[in-house]
Order: sequence, then structure tokens, then C-alpha cells
Amino acid sequence: MRVIIAKTAGFCMGVRKAMDNVLDAANKRERDDGVVYTEGPLIHNPQVLERLEKKGISALKESTDLTKSTVVIRAHGITPKRRRELEESGAEICDATCPRVKRVQSVIEKHAKDGYSTIIVGDDGHAEVIGLLGYTEGKGYVISSSEDVSSLPDMDKVCIVAQTTQDMHTYALTVEKLKHRYKDHKEFETICSSTSKRQEEVINLSEAVDAMIVVGGRGSANTNRLAHISANRGTPTFLVETEKELDLKKLIDFSVIGVTAGASTPNWLIQSVVDKVQAFQAKKVGKVRIFTEKAITVLIGSFMYIGIGAASFSYSSSVLLGIDPRIKFCAIATLFLFSMYVLNHFANKEAAALNEPSRAKLYEKHQGVFVVLGIVAAVISFVLAFTVSLEVFFCVFLLFYLELHIGFLLSQRDFPVLFDIIVWHRFQARKRYL
Ligand code: SF4
Repeated sequence: MRVIIAKTAGFCMGVRKAMDNVLDAANKRERDDGVVYTEGPLIHNPQVLERLEKKGISALKESTDLTKSTVVIRAHGITPKRRRELEESGAEICDATCPRVKRVQSVIEKHAKDGYSTIIVGDDGHAEVIGLLGYTEGKGYVISSSEDVSSLPDMDKVCIVAQTTQDMHTYALTVEKLKHRYKDHKEFETICSSTSKRQEEVINLSEAVDAMIVVGGRGSANTNRLAHISANRGTPTFLVETEKELDLKKLIDFSVIGVTAGASTPNWLIQSVVDKVQAFQAKKVGKVRIFTEKAITVLIGSFMYIGIGAASFSYSSSVLLGIDPRIKFCAIATLFLFSMYVLNHFANKEAAALNEPSRAKLYEKHQGVFVVLGIVAAVISFVLAFTVSLEVFFCVFLLFYLELHIGFLLSQRDFPVLFDIIVWHRFQARKRYL
């Protein structure tokens, strides 16, 4: 069984930006004891929302007192009326509306002022569509397909737009019909390029694989669309929110599996699904292959490959410089880099669990072994460096010292504040010279 992961799977630019904004706001509020709310669920992914809740970030409720709080407007955007209400509530507003959604809002706003009625091709009731309707000055209509065109009233001038995550094919068919019905129209291609690329890739991928797994929240419009596109092309398609929902028995007869994900699905969830499929595949193949794959996994997961790479680099540099390659130098490079990567992993456990779940699991399982290995490797590299010369020992020690202190500084909560203060002072000093 082969697994092909779609290149476009995972967070889109707008969702990544919204996540960055909300985490920045949370870090800032942590320092002054405030609270961070999101205007509606930040994204349509229950697992990510659960993690945000653990950080104290939750969706805003009607009766919430907004004193000393920050409200993050999510990527879908909101209506101008709702924005005014939030501004009047006294909360600090952090606008994470996706720039591509903002573009659609301004197209609608401009045309509504010029007397156009707006037709939005999208999902009625979806947060982005509700926000867009707020810019239509009360002259907005939502339809989901070409079949709904006949239900629309007669209008003089119409502005046609799509929800940014609309299916390209559905939009093209609907626009064709709308153009026939409304002679005075202006049509805008507002499907986001991230959505169209994702949909194009799922079309191609679904033709190249035997089955498709779509990872993402069931409440996510773009995830559901990906699943529909794949299923409509006749490819057996499985939509799952997490790896726990994956029924491996259903995959037994397929040799090539495609994996894609919605714009609000984080990498760690995609990776967990891929890991589960690959572990299942391992059970179906011979012992030699299982052993080889396990060895490769340990080699990569444990950072041993970094050490081997460092040894090869040291050896080839010596050859290129015309120096006799020395085993000791190769060993110092191998042990030093291996120890730094291993110890660094434990310093950034939270990030590793999100970005590299399989490596994090391996390290969690053998935590004691890896800590001992990391420390022993560091000590041996120092001893070896000392036996070569004091200069080499000093270089290794200096690298260790820098790694330790830069790592420590970056992990400090106040580091961004210190950095802001330094930048601000430098800016003020520069202004005095201008
Ligand atoms: S799908 Fe496109 S429009 Fe929607 S949030 Fe992502 S980048 Fe923005």
C-alpha cells in the first residue's frame, strides 16, 4: 500500500495568519491578566479548538463581559454592524480576517454603494457568507447552485461573487445561468487561489489513487467540498476528523491511498492519519521490510541521521581541503550534533508534539534513554575535543554555550517584549538623526 499526501493539504495562508494572531494575542494577554475570545469558533476543527481552549481561548458568548479582553475576528470576517458593536464594547479588537475575504467584502461594499444588488454563490448561514451579506446594504442574496437561480427576484444591476471556498465547477455553472438572466451584471472570480489549487489537486489525485482520505472538521465547508469532489469522481472517499475514526478494514483492498485535508486541518492531525495508515501497511508486508522500515524510522526519528550527515560532512571537507580525514573529528561532529538535536527536542516538546507527532511519540516512549544518550554524547564530544587540542575544545564549548543561551533566550515569554523594546529604541534613535 502506497500513501500519497496532497501538497496542498493543511492550513491555508488565512488560517495560519488567524492562528498566529490569536496565539500572539493570548501571549500578550497572559502578561496583563486579560482574556482572549474569538468571534465564533476560530476555525472549523474541533481538535484545534480543544487545544485553544486549553490555552484559555474560547469563542465569545452573548453575555460575556469584555472588559480587559481581546476579541479576535476570525478569518471568515464579520459584518460592519457586528464590528461596530464589538468596538463599542470596549474590547481590544484583533482583526484576523483573511485578506482574500476582505477583498470580497470591499468588492461588495463598493458595488452596493453604486446601486448593485449582490448575489453570493455559497453556503447560506456560513460565517463568511453572513459577514459578506453585511456589506450588501440589505440587497444581498445567497444561492448554492445553478438550480437556485430561478428562485431569485428580478433585479436591475447585479454583482456576482463566490464564497472564497466555493466549488469552482458549481460556481462556473451558476454564473453562466446568472449571466443569461441578468443582462446588467458584473461578475468577480472570488474563489481563493488556495481553495482552487486544493480542489484541482484533489481532482488529479483522486484519479491517480484507489481511495482517498480527507482529513478535517465535519463543520468545515472546504473539507466537505474536497470529499464531495473526490467522491463525485467515483473514488472511494473517507472523511475523518482524526485517525481514531479511520476504519482500516475498509482500506484493505486498496494499493494506493491519497490523503488530503481542509484549510483548517493542522499538520499534526494529517500526520497522525498518515502514520496510522502506514503502520497498518507494515502489518501486511514481510518481516524484512518491517525491520527495514522500523530501522529507518528510528534512524530519522532519533536524529541519528543528522550525526551520520555531520560525520560525512567532516570527512568530505577534509578530503576537499587536502587534509587527512581524522576519525576523531568525524566522531566529535557526529556526537555533538546528535546531542544538541536530542536535547533541543526536550526543550521544545510542545512544538514537536504539534509538528512531528511520530517523533514526539518515539521520544516520549524512550525519554530516559534519549536524555542519557544526549548527555553522554555531549560529554564524549567534549572529551574527544580536549584530546585533540585546547583550541578544538574551546570551539566545541563555545558552540555549546551559544546554543544553550540562544535557545534559552528564545524560549523566554518576555523575549518578544524585550525585542520590541530594543526595536522601538533603535527606531526612536534613528528618528532623532533624520
Ligand atoms: S481558504 Fe483562502 S480565503 Fe479562506 S481563509 Fe484560507 S486563504 Fe483565506
